[in-house]
Amino acid sequence: MHDKSTVIIIGGGLAGLSAGVLLAEHRIPVLIIEAKSRLGGRASSFQDSKTGDIVDYGQHLMIGAYKETEQFLKKIGSFEWLDRQDRLRLDLAHPCMGVASVKCADLPAPFHLLTGLSGFHHLTWFDKFRMFCSGGVLYCLNPKIFPGIDYISVDTLLRRVSQSKNSRRFFWDILTLATLNEHPQRASAALFLKVIREAFLFDRARSQIWLPKTGLSELYTIPAENFIKDRGGQFLMKTRVDQLCFDESGIQFVETSHGRHFYSDFVISAVPARQLRGAISDEVAHRYFPTLDQFTSSAIIGIHLWWDRPVMKNRFVGLLESPIEWVFDKSQIYDPDLAQGSHLSLVISAANRFVSMSRQELTDMAVREIRRFFPLSRRVQLVRSLVIKNRRATFAQQTGTSRYRLDTETRFPNFLLAGDWTNTGLPATIESAVMSGHQAAKRLLIKVSNLR
Ligand SMILES: Cc1cc2nc3c(=O)[nH]c(=O)nc-3n(C[C@H](O)[C@H](O)[C@H](O)COP(=O)(O)OP(=O)(O)OC[C@H]3O[C@@H](n4cnc5c(N)ncnc54)[C@H](O)[C@@H]3O)c2cc1C
Repeated sequence: MHDKSTVIIIGGGLAGLSAGVLLAEHRIPVLIIEAKSRLGGRASSFQDSKTGDIVDYGQHLMIGAYKETEQFLKKIGSFEWLDRQDRLRLDLAHPCMGVASVKCADLPAPFHLLTGLSGFHHLTWFDKFRMFCSGGVLYCLNPKIFPGIDYISVDTLLRRVSQSKNSRRFFWDILTLATLNEHPQRASAALFLKVIREAFLFDRARSQIWLPKTGLSELYTIPAENFIKDRGGQFLMKTRVDQLCFDESGIQFVETSHGRHFYSDFVISAVPARQLRGAISDEVAHRYFPTLDQFTSSAIIGIHLWWDRPVMKNRFVGLLESPIEWVFDKSQIYDPDLAQGSHLSLVISAANRFVSMSRQELTDMAVREIRRFFPLSRRVQLVRSLVIKNRRATFAQQTGTSRYRLDTETRFPNFLLAGDWTNTGLPATIESAVMSGHQAAKRLLIKVSNLR
């Protein structure tokens, strides 16, 4: 009887879809309820009406350490849509000193970094030597063994391991912003260490950068939706879950914005913490989910600029000493042979202080920065611009916030949690979302098999 039990998954972002795919693979019927008219949540794309180009709601990249994501994309058949580096290469441009590259050789980790850093001319040999030596200390500082590290900031940690002002300014700061969407003075050192350990210290393939060769919706939402539907799963779109109703034994039903009640044996919530809090009563929240009110958000702003001719030679580059951190040349990434003009996607992370700026002000700032860094752009015409403000891009991954993150299993046996903000131990990323979805689905499979 329980074979036929429908599982309700609330939220069709990466967490909900990865849980749905794993359950569908095991022939567990799922119903995914999604508030919007499109799946994918924060990691989805749309077609720009003026240019016809595919635009991601937020520019995303992945790294070789994203093992759960790799599994998920392989299962739905879209792993090949990633452009994967053979070895780590990172170009960082300085307005006066030009572009310096971290180009790693085919050596075992962490020695690949030694060669990678050797050509990075923004830093002195002494800075690089200290960076490499700090690897040993960072290796020993496992946040699982020293949980207090979550209470110190990345900046404090880096000073304690003798990182020079220049190595922080020209390397670590941009890395922190990119991976934690938070300034080093506020970002949690525990999450930073997790990134360093996962990506750089053990296996060189883990630090390779992966870029989607297509929009995010084509990359994974459409294939995941098809995978789930082909195995009997269903989707209810444009339907917001307004209320989760619990009694002492567990979740009783889910009430939607259309006033309908849905009953099922199990419910997985795969929505951000704020939305989950909005769907449960104060009494249940205060008694069983007291940390939900503690999360705050960090913004990311994406600025898209279309030019009539190519502007940059690299496919993506980090900008130092600039309010813009990264520039991706989407034309080169999507279809280098066809690229005539240039569609640039610019990223400002930890952007709370920029969200009050108007779209025109942000565009003017972005154009100024592009002209400052890329001489080719001084002779080309801007054709179109588009600004996307993601005010709640991720939860603010500041010092001391790990304790707010909730586990997959809750006090209620038929109610599980997923989402990038749950207690995966990872920064709020694609990998955290997919890992949380997989964890929830695996817990649920055990519960279903126990019921049989
Ligand atoms: C601009 C930007 C850039 C980023 N860059 C990167 C990057 O380069 N690399 C990386 O790894 N990560 C990046 N991230 C983070 C990554 O996108 C997220 O961690 C991931 O998408 C979170 O997935 P999720 O499923 O947990 O949540 P979401 O994507 O938020 O999905 C939740 C879903 O639930 C739905 N929902 C919400 N409330 C309800 C409700 N009441 N009823 C029904 N449905 C509901 C929402 O509509 C949404 O579809 C970026 C994020 C942003 C915003």
